[in-house]
Amino acid sequence: MARINENFNKLPGSYLFSEIAKRVSAYRAENPDRDIISLGIGDVTQPLVPAVVKAMHDAVDEMSAKETFKGYGPDHGYDFLVNAIVDNEFAARGIDISADEVFVSDGAKSDCANIGDIFSTDNVVAVCDPVYPVYVDTNAMAGRAGEFGADGRWSKLVYMPCTAENGFTPAIPEKTPDMIYLCYPNNPTGAAATKEQLKVWVDYANKNGSVILYDSAYEAFISDPELPHSIFEIEGAEECAIEFRSFSKTAGFTGTRCAYTVVPKELKREGVSLNKLWGRRQSTKFNGTPYIVQRGAAAIFTEQGKRETRSVIDYYMNNAKVIREGLSNAGFTVYGGMNAPYIWAKTPDGLSSWDFFDKLLKEAGVVTTPGAGFGPSGEGYIRLTAFGSAEATGQAVERIVSLF
Ligand SMILES: *Cc1c(COP(=O)(O)O)cnc(C)c1O
Repeated sequence: MARINENFNKLPGSYLFSEIAKRVSAYRAENPDRDIISLGIGDVTQPLVPAVVKAMHDAVDEMSAKETFKGYGPDHGYDFLVNAIVDNEFAARGIDISADEVFVSDGAKSDCANIGDIFSTDNVVAVCDPVYPVYVDTNAMAGRAGEFGADGRWSKLVYMPCTAENGFTPAIPEKTPDMIYLCYPNNPTGAAATKEQLKVWVDYANKNGSVILYDSAYEAFISDPELPHSIFEIEGAEECAIEFRSFSKTAGFTGTRCAYTVVPKELKREGVSLNKLWGRRQSTKFNGTPYIVQRGAAAIFTEQGKRETRSVIDYYMNNAKVIREGLSNAGFTVYGGMNAPYIWAKTPDGLSSWDFFDKLLKEAGVVTTPGAGFGPSGEGYIRLTAFGSAEATGQAVERIVSLF
C-alpha cells in the first residue's frame, strides 16, 4: 500500500481565502441584490499593457511558422529575458548580478515553495508573524514545522512577531534559525525595510551561517528612493541570501505566470554552491516558462513597457492613497500603502479580525482580509488591497467611512 506524506495531515483545515469565500457566498445568498466590493484577495485587475500584448502576439506568430517555431527553451530562461533582468533590475542599481545567477520560472510562489528542496529537513525555519502563508505551509509539508498547536503556531517554527511597536520589522529571534524568510515590501502589512534594517539581518545570517530567503515580489511599488529594491543592495548579501522576484504584481502577470529567482554564486553552505543545487533542482523538475510568456515579460523592460507598467503601478498606488487617507481621516490607525499595495488597518474598539471582517461585509458590503489569517500577531488587524478599480476602491472607502 502506498503511504502518504503524513505531514499533509497536520495542515490546518480551511485555508484563509476559502473561509472568506464561504462567508461571502453565504452573505450573497441571503442578500442577492447587494453589490459587494472586494478589497480582499491580492490579485491584480488591470489588463496586460500594450507593449506586453504586442510582444506576445508576435511570439505566437513565431510559434506558428516552421522557421521560427520553438520547442523546449533553455533551462533557466531565454537570454533575451535574463539579460534584460540583469541590466534593468540589477546593473541599473549598481548591483553585480550575472546572467547565470538568474533562474526564470513560472512564479515566485512556486519558487519560494520549491526552494526547500535544496535544504535539509532538519533546518530550523524562522518566519515573520503575520506572514504570506506559503512559507509556513510548504515547510510544514516538508516536515520542518513540527506539529500545529491549538495556539495557531507550529511547534518547530521560529515566529518573529511584526507589530506596530517594532514598525513591522522583526527583532532577531532568541533561537538561531538556519533559514529566514523575509518579505519586503511586505504582504500583508505593507511595511518596507530600510537598508539599515536589512543590513542587521545580512550580518546576522553571515555570522551564523543562516540563509535569508528574500521575497521582493512588491519591489516595484516602492516610491521612497532611499529604500532598497533588492537584498543584494546590502553588502555581504551575496554570501547569505536568495531573492524571489515576480512579474505578477509588477506587470499584471498573475494569470500569465513569469517570475525569477536570484541565487548568487558566492552563496555556499557546507562547501556546496546553492546556485548549482537550485540549477540542478530546476533542470530536473521544471521545463521552463513558455517562450510566448518570456517574450511578454521581456517587453516590460522596453521604453514603452516601462512607461506603461509604471502607469498601472501608479494607478494602484493612487488607490492605496485613497484607502490610507480615507480610513485615516475617519479615525482608523493604518499602516502601509506608501511603498506597497497593501494597507494594514487596526480594527476599531478592540474587535477581532474576523468580527471586523464580518461587520464590513454585512454593513458596508466590502470584503477585506482578516489579519489573523496571516498569523497570530495579525489578530486585531485587517488587510485591504489597492488592486481594485479606482471607482470601486473609492466607493468601498466611502461605505466603510460612513459606518463611523
Ligand atoms: C503575489 C505574491 C507573490 C507572487 O507569486 P507568483 O507565484 O509569482 O504569482 C510572491 N510573494 C508574495 C508575498 C506575494 O504576495
